[in-house]
Amino acid sequence: MSKKCSKCKKNKSVTEFHKNKARKDGLEGYCIVCACERKKKRRENGGDFTLKQKEAAFKRFGHFCQICGNYDRNKLQVDHLMPQIICNPNTASVEANAWVLCVSCNRIKDKRIILELIAKVPRNTLRGMLVQEYADAIVKGLFEKVPVTINGAQFTEVKVKIN
Ligand SMILES: [Zn+2]
Ligand SMILES: [Zn+2]
Repeated sequence: MSKKCSKCKKNKSVTEFHKNKARKDGLEGYCIVCACERKKKRRENGGDFTLKQKEAAFKRFGHFCQICGNYDRNKLQVDHLMPQIICNPNTASVEANAWVLCVSCNRIKDKRIILELIAKVPRNTLRGMLVQEYADAIVKGLFEKVPVTINGAQFTEVKVKIN
C-alpha cells in the first residue's frame, strides 16, 4: 500500500509515514522525511512562526492589532493564541494558533490563557497542542475565570489549577 505525502507529493509506502490515530487513514499526512525536515525547521526557528506562517496570519486577520486596532505595521507581531508555555514542544507555532497583535497588547496579554481565544483554535489542533493537564482542565471547565482588560478591551483570563 502506498500513500501520497501532502508535502513532497511523492507516492511512498505506508511504512514511510508515522502513525497518527487522529487521522482518517491512521497515518500522518507528511512522510517521515518531510516530517523530520519540518521539525528541524521549527527547532531552528526557536519555536516561533516562519515567514510563511506570519504571512498567512496577516492574510487571515489583516494588518491590524486584533485587540486595539493599531495598524502601525512596525508595531505588529504574530502572536500565539494559546501561550507556548502550556503547549507541547514544537506544537504551538502552527498557523491555527497564530493571530495578529501590536507590541503593546502582546506585552499585556503575555503568557495569559484567554478564554475568548481558546474558541479561535480548532478543537483538533488544541487537543494535540496543549500539555495534558491543561487540555484536561480546559475541556472539563476546571478553571477559575478572572476578568482582564487589555488596552481597553475586556477578556476573561483562565486560571488553571494544576495539582
Ligand atoms: Zn514527503
Ligand atoms: Zn494592540
